[in-house]
Amino acid sequence: MGTHFDCIVVGGGAAGLATAIGLARGGLSVKALGVPDAPHDDGRSAALFESSLEFLATLGVVEELKAHGAPLRAIRLIDITGALVRAPTTTFKASEIGQDAFGWNIPNAKIVEVMSAAARTTPGLSVSATFLDRFTQDENGITLMTKGGETLTADILIGADGQKSRVREGAGIGHRVKPYPQAAITCRLHHPKDHEDISLEFHTREGPFTFVPVADGLSALVWIMRPEKAEAMVKLPRAALEDEINRRATNALGPVKIDGPVASVPLQKLVANALIAGRVALVGEAAHAFPPIGAQGLNLGLKDVEAIVKRLIAAKKAGEPLATALPHYARDRRIDVEARSAGVDVLNSALIANSLPFDIARAAGLAVLRDVAPIRRLAMRIGGWRSPFGIKKPA
Ligand SMILES: Cc1cc2nc3c(=O)[nH]c(=O)nc-3n(C[C@H](O)[C@H](O)[C@H](O)COP(=O)(O)OP(=O)(O)OC[C@H]3O[C@@H](n4cnc5c(N)ncnc54)[C@H](O)[C@@H]3O)c2cc1C
Repeated sequence: MGTHFDCIVVGGGAAGLATAIGLARGGLSVKALGVPDAPHDDGRSAALFESSLEFLATLGVVEELKAHGAPLRAIRLIDITGALVRAPTTTFKASEIGQDAFGWNIPNAKIVEVMSAAARTTPGLSVSATFLDRFTQDENGITLMTKGGETLTADILIGADGQKSRVREGAGIGHRVKPYPQAAITCRLHHPKDHEDISLEFHTREGPFTFVPVADGLSALVWIMRPEKAEAMVKLPRAALEDEINRRATNALGPVKIDGPVASVPLQKLVANALIAGRVALVGEAAHAFPPIGAQGLNLGLKDVEAIVKRLIAAKKAGEPLATALPHYARDRRIDVEARSAGVDVLNSALIANSLPFDIARAAGLAVLRDVAPIRRLAMRIGGWRSPFGIKKPA
């Protein structure tokens, strides 16, 4: 391959790799930058919904990804807020709405590892660990300099380089940030009892404390708390941190042992002011990020990827300039990105609000969902449950 490409994708996370593979499989010549030789593991996992899995199947990676994950056959909400009016424990089963699972939960590092391997063998795709340094764009195309000192050119540039996106900054796209007084502790856990493919979501005043099943009988922990407390927690000796986890988990799966790394991830809402600028487009967390409420992050990122891949392949097939596809992409995605970012913000803010009316409303709402099966099924099919978990209506 030379140094000119139809498209350069910056960022070797899940969004960038999916974009690069999808475009190359569709016949574009693609360069992917920032693809790690060994993926960074911060203990995080992603629950991927049916729509994401269907898209990943078109990239030929879904079965291998599932081998590292576990299906989410049920979700149990347990209130440990200590609120005066406590919400009842409520279990939502995928089978109640005719689904085998709400989705699959897969460690992030495995997603990147499997997709990097697929990217390296995809014809038309050239992969490099080198980072983007800077770029310019004009009516003729993109000229990009890598940190390794290489100059590359392309018709279009896609920024999938995460929340601190250099592509976003270089394209002059502003963004809005709302920091939350929260960080997530992430790691994987061994536990003696079988997780039975059930995600346990303990609701605390600081945010969720969640055990989500992954492969080999392990669960992934997402524990949201104040950032300074999270910093202190991750510095604890392993045994002391395990004790803290056990204390909150009410022995649901027996005493836990941490497997692999532990990380503290600060949480914020970030929304780019635009998804495109000239020949540049943003996907994934370069465009939007928010707390892991309702597992929206990567699922939303993969929707961006699916949309841009579809638009660019159509332009390529029609022999149209690739840059003409980008405004269509922006129109496809703008409303969804803004609406979901706002929705997650409202949910997260409500969860951490120490407010009696909200506690009463939540307790009453969950009591109805627990006790009235038709309403629970309706909620899972068409209501708030369907959109956070991306569940499709059964045929
Ligand atoms: C605790 C937690 C739990 C979550 N759970 C879920 C979940 O259940 N379901 C879900 O859908 N989402 C979840 N998310 C969100 C999900 O993890 C993210 O949306 C997703 O990982 C973001 O992927 P990305 O590829 O957009 O960005 P990133 O993973 O940040 O990738 C960006 C890549 O760009 C590279 N890069 C940066 N700068 C440059 C440069 N200059 N040149 C080249 N490369 C560069 C980086 O090295 C990195 O490889 C969760 C998030 C958190 C914090």
